[in-house]
Amino acid sequence: MLDLTGKEVKERRALRVNPCKTCQPVGAMYAALGVKRCMPHSHGSQGCCSYHRTVLSRHFKEPAIASSSSFTEGASVFGGRSNINTAVKNVFDMYDPDIIAVHTTCLSETIGDDLISYIMDMDLPEGKTVVHCNTPSYVGSHINGFFNMMMGFMNYLTKKTGTSNGKAAIFPGWVNPGDIREIKRIAIAMGVPYIMFPDQSGVLDAPMTGKYEYYTNGGTTLPEIAALGDTDQLIALGEITNIEPAELLQKKWKVPYALLPMPVGVAYTDVYIMALQKFSKQEVPYELEEQRGQLVDLLLDSHPYTSGKKAAIFGDPDVVIGLTSLCLEADIIPQYVITGTPKEEFTRKVNALLTQYNAEGCTVKANADLFELHQWIKNEPVDLLIGSTYGKQIAKAEDIPFVRAGFPVLDRYAGTLLPIVGYTGAIRLVEKITEALMDRQDRDAADEDFEIVM
Ligand code: SF4
Repeated sequence: MLDLTGKEVKERRALRVNPCKTCQPVGAMYAALGVKRCMPHSHGSQGCCSYHRTVLSRHFKEPAIASSSSFTEGASVFGGRSNINTAVKNVFDMYDPDIIAVHTTCLSETIGDDLISYIMDMDLPEGKTVVHCNTPSYVGSHINGFFNMMMGFMNYLTKKTGTSNGKAAIFPGWVNPGDIREIKRIAIAMGVPYIMFPDQSGVLDAPMTGKYEYYTNGGTTLPEIAALGDTDQLIALGEITNIEPAELLQKKWKVPYALLPMPVGVAYTDVYIMALQKFSKQEVPYELEEQRGQLVDLLLDSHPYTSGKKAAIFGDPDVVIGLTSLCLEADIIPQYVITGTPKEEFTRKVNALLTQYNAEGCTVKANADLFELHQWIKNEPVDLLIGSTYGKQIAKAEDIPFVRAGFPVLDRYAGTLLPIVGYTGAIRLVEKITEALMDRQDRDAADEDFEIVM
């Protein structure tokens, strides 16, 4: 279906074809789902909210709850104050969350709805809270929406009592619940007491119990968010997603931060573990050393199949930076590395990584789209494509082995339950990559070269 993509690349500034991102409120909704007993609320028309819920539900294979201000013509002309007042009352009456996290949409932003004053004027039930953030979708991407919602919670709820709680704050960035579980497991193994924010584990990977509940046991609690200001240090994973939330916590409450890459691959997991060690002063347990050794062993064993292969990697900035690092560790050349999120810091980080590994002639671009990635591949093919489900048409058109990683993965199961972070996650990724490359070798092998032992 993308067979007709042309080879001639033209510079475009005002047009995105086959985008490599989605809109800000999707990220705001995902961040809000990582807070316990929270109802994400979309201040706009129902269509936006339906789309945001749909994309999350399709990726996580779980219901993504959210409510909407249900704008019609009246709100579009006169503003959404009356809609949100009614919505907040109804949501607390009918669904009884502890908190409603409101994000804006293109429409309410264009009207210029002043959410701060609307919320200040609300007569809320005892013990209930409303927070908000602005998520205009004509700038940024779902990643901006994600960190804007984090900052919305922090602006309204964080406090400093003056007494340290002895904990580290950990911001996991935009990862799957399976990744958050692995990030926690490593923190526990390193003896670090933590507050994870946000935390979608136990929410969007909740077990089947036979009984549907709006609010699960998962999610960062409101007292935990309040206590972020009393933490001794912030360990923020994902240098692009977390820079602004990290700076906010430091500015507001003087919490020092370590801004680290997403722990994908050997080197970046080492960085995370060293940051934890600096905090807890504990020895790295054998359990983690053993897994690291297994990963290095696997990289050596699979090296004949990965070495010198060219890959195109696309997706969200921090995941892509991590995947690029892992590919370089596996001696794979990251020929094309793109993100749809318009953050130039991404380009600088990836280029620094490529320089570190002496990888030359690679193309790196932020604010890019999948159409131009496809055109580059047409002009100079790659051996492997790594990214979200939206790469599958390119993989089919160009007959390239395809590894799904990142967001969204709409056409496969279990990916959100299993990590790509940590040594365990890297083992899983190396397995997926090696299997894709070896399957291709098998498929193309002549009968006399079709081996049982490889
Ligand atoms: S109108 Fe804006 S907020 Fe709504 S779905 Fe489209 S891009 Fe997202």
